[in-house]
Order: sequence, then structure tokens, then C-alpha cells
Amino acid sequence: MTTPSGFGAETFRCGSAGLKILFRQGRPDVAEVYVGEFEGRPGARLECVDGLDAAWPRRDKWIINISTQIGCPVGCLFCDAGGDYRGDLGVDEMMAQVFFVASRHPGLMETCGKLKIHFARMGEPALNDAVPETIRRLREAIPHPNVWCCLATTAPAGREAWFERFWEVKEAGWRGRFQLQFSVNSTAEAERHRLMPVRLWSLGDVARYGERWYGQGDRRVVLNFALAEGAAFEADRIREYFDPAVFAIKLTPLNPTRRGREAGFRTILRAARSRAATDRACERLHQFGYDVVISIGDGREDQIGSNCGQAVLRYQEEEEDSPAP
Ligand code: SF4
Repeated sequence: MTTPSGFGAETFRCGSAGLKILFRQGRPDVAEVYVGEFEGRPGARLECVDGLDAAWPRRDKWIINISTQIGCPVGCLFCDAGGDYRGDLGVDEMMAQVFFVASRHPGLMETCGKLKIHFARMGEPALNDAVPETIRRLREAIPHPNVWCCLATTAPAGREAWFERFWEVKEAGWRGRFQLQFSVNSTAEAERHRLMPVRLWSLGDVARYGERWYGQGDRRVVLNFALAEGAAFEADRIREYFDPAVFAIKLTPLNPTRRGREAGFRTILRAARSRAATDRACERLHQFGYDVVISIGDGREDQIGSNCGQAVLRYQEEEEDSPAP
């Protein structure tokens, strides 16, 4: 196992949280995933990521991706973070992940061209009441104009108060520097619910909230489709609900996770035969006036297994295989 140099058994402290880093995988020029656990939660592992955009050096664009829950109660069929849900992370525990990763690059937080803090690792952020307060506190703690936030959600139903508070916090401190992303993954409601097996907002609900959330100067709200081969992706259905002045479309590969493989998923972006229909739908979306981004990412991330939940799985397997002292 690889323990990060300079940390060993030390605990990284942030407010009331003590984060002990157990394991690291990846490489600094692609992404490094850290597995840790917090004091008082033995055996409850989380991941945070020191990441890059393949197109930019870290000094120009840097991505810190943090977990919001231990495991995830949603259990998406394509994600290794689902299952073994052990509760929500608190404000200090989320802040600790940000500042731990930042501590790996002293001084860079203030000086890099753009730092994006993603609430997009383990956990469904909209199911954790501490997330809006964390976003608010981050603005106070790092008020630099180069710092952005990004949050990805499946849009769980019954969380209207959370979404209202989240909007208030964005308006108060992050207008113009916050990227909201809905993980949609299919334009067919039944398929969305099968892939992301919690009670979800309908596409119409997502559209109504996105229109309210989006304000002057804000980035467009992103509808993300990590399309599995055969998943519905209908341009006309998107246009039926979503205003291209408010929403942008992003296609990403379906990550090669263990659960995804077991469920027989293959990403459509690497399946030439069925890709043609996706390309036609993208063309139609362009004609409707949407920004459409196809974000393939850095293939080396797949090779190093840096997709959500994989590092915790790998750590736990190595731990089980290690001979008892
Ligand atoms: S994709 Fe997100 S919401 Fe779904 S199981 Fe993974 S962490 Fe949870």
C-alpha cells in the first residue's frame, strides 16, 4: 500500500475534524486519490481527489474533489461508491478534505488560475444537510476570485428545503462562480429511476429548479449524461423541458467501475455502432441552440482506477489480503 509521504500515521486537523490518510493511488500528473477516515469513525472510509484537467497544468487549473457522505445511500448501478452507507460528513469533515489536498501544494490555492472544488466524489450531496453550510464556509475561508465550486446531484425528491438553502448560499457568495450539474443519464424517466434507484425529481422538476437557480452571470446548469449503450438520449425530449439559454448538455463516458461491469454496462462514447445515434442527437441539440460538450477526460484515469469508490474498494481489498500482524 502507498502511504502519502510526509503523512504516515499523522492526522490532518481542520476544526473539529481529524483526517487520517490511509492510502493513495494515482499519479500527480493525472489524479491522486486519497483514502482516509475521520477520528471517531473507525472503518468508515472516504475518498478525496487531487485532480487536474488534462488540458491544463495544475498552476492554471486545479480540481479538488471531495466526498460528502461515507459510502452512498443512492447506489447507482454504475458506481462503486454505492452501498455500505455509513452516514453524512459534517462541515469540518468536508472542509478538512479540501484543506488536506490543498496542503499538498502549498501556496497554490491563492495563485493558481482556477481552482474548482467539486462536491462530486462519494455521496449524494443533496442528501447531506451540512453541504450548503460547507459551501458557505468555504467562501469565507477562501474568498479568492479564482476559486469555483461545482456540485453534482442526481436530484433526489423530497429535498426541496435543501435545494432552497443551496440556492441561497450560491446567491450570497458564489454567483457566477458555481457550476451546478444534474446527473441525468437518460431521457426516459423509468430508466433514470432504474439507474439511480432513489426517488428522483422528474425532468420537469429539474427544469423548474434549474431555471430558478440560474441567475445573471451564472454558468449554465449542466445536464450530464454518462450514457450507457442503449440508454435513451432524445434531443426532442430535452428540448421539451430544458431552455438552452439556461441549460448546457455534457456527455461523459460511463466509468468502467466494478458495479458497472457486473451490470453489463458499456459506455456509448466508446461503442462506435451505437455512437452514430448519439452523434445525431448531439447535432440536433446544437440546432436547438444548446452548448453540447463531449468530455472524454483523460483515459489514464481509467487505468489508474481513479473513478468514484474504486480507491476505497482497492484499499479494503488490500487490507483484507494483508497478513495479520
Ligand atoms: S454516482 Fe453519486 S449518487 Fe450515485 S451511487 Fe455514486 S456517489 Fe452515490
